[in-house]
Amino acid sequence: MITIQSYVNGEFASGGEQVPLLNPATEETVAVACCGVDAAAALRFARERGIPALQSLTFAQRAELLARMAAVIHEHRDALIDASVSNNGATRSGAKFDIDGASGALAAYAEIGKQLGERGILCDGEGVGLGRGARLFGAHAWFSRPGVAVFINAFNFPAWGFAEKAAAAILAGMPVISKPATATALTAGRLAEILVQSAVLPPGAFSQVLGPVTELLNLLGPQDQVAFTGSSETAAKIRGNQNLVRNAVRVNIEADSLNAAVVDPLLDVSSPLYQVLLRDLVREMTEKTGQKCTATRRVLVAEPLLEKLVEDLKDRIGSLKVGNPANAVVELGPLATADQRRDVVAGIERLKSSCQHVHGEARPGELVDVPVGKGFFVGPHLFVARAEKALSAVHAGEVFGPVCTLIPYDGNAASAGRLVASGGGCLVSEVYADDRGFMQQAATLIAPYCGRVVLVDSKSEGFTLPPGMVLPQLVHGGPGRAGGGEELGGMRGLQHYLHRTAFQGSRAAVERLLS
Ligand code: NAP
Repeated sequence: MITIQSYVNGEFASGGEQVPLLNPATEETVAVACCGVDAAAALRFARERGIPALQSLTFAQRAELLARMAAVIHEHRDALIDASVSNNGATRSGAKFDIDGASGALAAYAEIGKQLGERGILCDGEGVGLGRGARLFGAHAWFSRPGVAVFINAFNFPAWGFAEKAAAAILAGMPVISKPATATALTAGRLAEILVQSAVLPPGAFSQVLGPVTELLNLLGPQDQVAFTGSSETAAKIRGNQNLVRNAVRVNIEADSLNAAVVDPLLDVSSPLYQVLLRDLVREMTEKTGQKCTATRRVLVAEPLLEKLVEDLKDRIGSLKVGNPANAVVELGPLATADQRRDVVAGIERLKSSCQHVHGEARPGELVDVPVGKGFFVGPHLFVARAEKALSAVHAGEVFGPVCTLIPYDGNAASAGRLVASGGGCLVSEVYADDRGFMQQAATLIAPYCGRVVLVDSKSEGFTLPPGMVLPQLVHGGPGRAGGGEELGGMRGLQHYLHRTAFQGSRAAVERLLS
C-alpha cells in the first residue's frame, strides 16, 4: 500500500492518524495518508531555515528555483497524472489541467522573476517631491516579509492549487507550508516526494502538512500569511480564527462561485460563435466532473434561443461516456468523494424543487469499467430557472458538480447585469456576443461582480481559451461569495506576498537606499 506522509522539519514524517485515500470510481483504497504533525516544530523549521535561505537570494535566483520546480513537475508529469486519475477521479485530460497548470504557473512566475533581475527590493512607482522645496522626497518599495506562507487547498486541484500560490510566495522570498485536502492527498503527496527528491528547493523553503492545521493557524504571527481555497463555510472559520485576527495575519480567500455566461439575445445559432458557446458550456460542465471553481453554473439566455440551446446541450452531454477514468474512452469521471456526491445530490434536489429539470439522472445507468453499485457518480444535469422561487434556489449556493442552470432573460444587458449580481460575486463570467454595443454594456455592468470577464465573439473563434482556464498573467479571485480574494495576475500576485514601505527623507538618502 502506498503511504503518503507530511514533509516537515526537512523530513517525511510517519505516524499520526492513518486516513485511507480512495479511488472514487471503484471505492478501493489506493493509499494511506499519515495525518498530524508537531505544528510548532514545523513552523520553527520553516522560519529558521526557510526564511534566511530564500531571503539571501535575489528575485532572479528565486526565479531559477521556480523554473526548476516547473521542470521536475513536467518531468514527472505521467506519475502525477496517474495519481490524479486514481485518487481524484479525474479523466486524463482533467488531470493534465491540474498538473500542466501547476508547471505553467511556476514557469510564468519564473519568467517574471528573471525580468526582475538580481535585486532583493522592488521600487513601487516613481518617487515624489514632498513639501514646497525640492529637497524632501518620498518613495515606496516592496520588501520580502520575514514570515511563512501557509496554504490550505481544496480537493479539486491538488497540484495547481499549491503551485499557483507557491510561485508567488517563493518568488517573494517566503517559505511555504502547504496543507492539501486530505481526501485527494495522493497527488500532493507525490508532488512533495518529487520536489524533495530532486532537491530543487533549499531546506525549510517547502513543507507539507497532512491533516488538521488549526494548531498551526493558532501559532502564526504578523509577518505570516494564509492563502485558503475551499468552501465558504471553512473560509468563515479561518477568517474568524482569533489568533489570525489578533495578529492581523494576511488571509486570502478563494471560495465558491456562481459563475455566469451571458448570451447575446441576437446570437445567430448558425454562427461560429454559437459553436464556441456550446463547446465552452459542455466543457465547463464536465471537465473535472464540474468540480472547478471557475465552471459555468448559470447561462443567461433570451427566451427565443432557450429551446435550441437546451436541445443542443442535451445532445452533447447525453452522449458522454461516464465511468472509470482509468479507461481512456471515459469522458466524465466520478465526483471526488462520497461527501462531495452527497452535497451535489442535495444541491440537485434543491434545484429540482423549483426549477425545470430538463436533463440528468442521479446515477447514470451505464458506467464504463465500474464495479456494480460502486463509485461516487452523478450524471450531468441541466435545469431551467424561470420563476423568482427558482432563481432563489439557484442563488442559494453552488452545486459543485456537473450541473448547470439556464436562466431565460429579456435580452437587456441591464437585466443580465442584475442577474449576474444576484450570484453574490463570481470568479469569472463570460459575454458571448457579436453585437458590440451589447458586449460593451453587459461586460461593464457585470465587471464589479466578477474577478475576470471573458469577452467572446466570432472573431475570437480559433484562439479563445475556455473561460474556466485560470491564467497566471490575469487575476484569479472574485468579490463576495467568491471569497473577496485575489491571486496571480503577474506582478499583482507577487505583491500579495511582499510588504510595501514608504520612505521619506532627503532625495539622496531615499534614492541611495532604494538603488
Ligand atoms: P473545504 O471542505 O472547505 O476544504 C478546503 C480545505 O480546508 C481542505 O484542505 C480542508 O482540509 C481544509 N479545512 C477543513 N476544515 C478546516 C478548518 N476548520 N481549518 C482549516 N482548514 C480546514 O473545501 P473542498 O470541499 O475541499 O473544496 C470545494 C470548494 O472549494 C468548493 O466550494 C469550490 O468552489 C471551492 N474552490 C474554490 C476555488 C477558487 O479558486 N476560488 C478553487 C477550487 C475550489 P481536509 O480536507 O483535511 O478537511
